[in-house]
Amino acid sequence: MKKPLIMTPGPTEIHEDVRKAMAQDITNPDLDIDFFEFYKQTCDKLKKLLNTKNDVLILNGEGILGLEAACASLIEPGDRILCIDNGIFGKGFGDFAKIYGGEVIYFEGDYRRAIDLNELKDFLEKDNDFKLATLVYCETPSGITNPVDEICPLLKEYGIISVVDAVSAIGGEPIEVDKWQMDVVLGGSQKCLSASPGLTLLSISKDAWDIILNRNIPIKSFYCNLALWKNWYEEKWFPYTQPISDIYGLDCAVDRILERGDYIERHKKIANGVRESFIQAGLELYPLSGYSNTVTTVLIPKGISFNEIFSSMLEDHNIMIAGAFDYLENKVIRIGHMGENCYEDKTYITLKALNNVFKKHGIKLNGSLHKYFVDIM
Ligand SMILES: *Cc1c(COP(=O)(O)O)cnc(C)c1O
Repeated sequence: MKKPLIMTPGPTEIHEDVRKAMAQDITNPDLDIDFFEFYKQTCDKLKKLLNTKNDVLILNGEGILGLEAACASLIEPGDRILCIDNGIFGKGFGDFAKIYGGEVIYFEGDYRRAIDLNELKDFLEKDNDFKLATLVYCETPSGITNPVDEICPLLKEYGIISVVDAVSAIGGEPIEVDKWQMDVVLGGSQKCLSASPGLTLLSISKDAWDIILNRNIPIKSFYCNLALWKNWYEEKWFPYTQPISDIYGLDCAVDRILERGDYIERHKKIANGVRESFIQAGLELYPLSGYSNTVTTVLIPKGISFNEIFSSMLEDHNIMIAGAFDYLENKVIRIGHMGENCYEDKTYITLKALNNVFKKHGIKLNGSLHKYFVDIM
């Protein structure tokens, strides 16, 4: 079978240049001084993308590694942790904090809306004795973005370290790590950056380093121990051998984003087109506020199942779209219009195919999804 067009919210389509970069000849990344410079250059490009002077690291595992490494390195048993939760990843962050002994307190928001800043303010006025807070920039399963630009400075007012999962936002949504006073921000290679799955990127503020390097008890992990990375450049030493081909690919993917320079506008425009097309066709978006610019989540209309949509999209049109899991299983479909997926042509053929699938299964729409999309664009 021909490779499908993967219009999923990660992994995303990978550009040919990125694949070619991954196919380059390799050196020994433990011994070749040029590789240390290359790794640093890639980190510097990521700093540009994140708008930060903080240290940036690339870790050798998918985004979840960054999330776990942050918890392992920052949390000590008994620490009070605030888990800001309005979705599956938000809630799950609390479980990672518990693994490392955190005493987790949840601030639970409406699962169909962005976190309400005023409600969080009221909550923090009554209880703010937290070492750190975990939060999610974009809840990928529900397609909701949270106002991290306001939440992180608010947490800072109380001296609470922020640990932000920005896996499905970096490279698709604006991000100002320094201006928004974000302490630890983590991303993955396979979402809006459109590199191959397998890498975490992580920015670490001075306040976060102070905690990591001044613990009472040692970090109970090796692979998740961020302290090991503190002086990698000065000492020209990595804790373990780097996946050099993956990093070649990531470097090229970040170049593509920085060179084009239009990614924020492009994501806004395409996301708006996709949302409006669904609304005008009479379908219901899952979010009631905080609409993501990287993934759109739509309720499955009556008369068709997720499996029918997924199979018809793949078999008749060779396009892969996603459903969701947990409480959203069989309730929504998701289109990932992020990174290399976020172009008019790919989005158009996806909506056209989806329109045909609905038609084939007898689902009535008010007009055609793809025609609305063209009108809006
Ligand atoms: C994709 C993603 C991750 C990483 O999860 P995987 O299931 O390993 O892909 C973490 N957080 C968010 C918000 C994500 O979208």
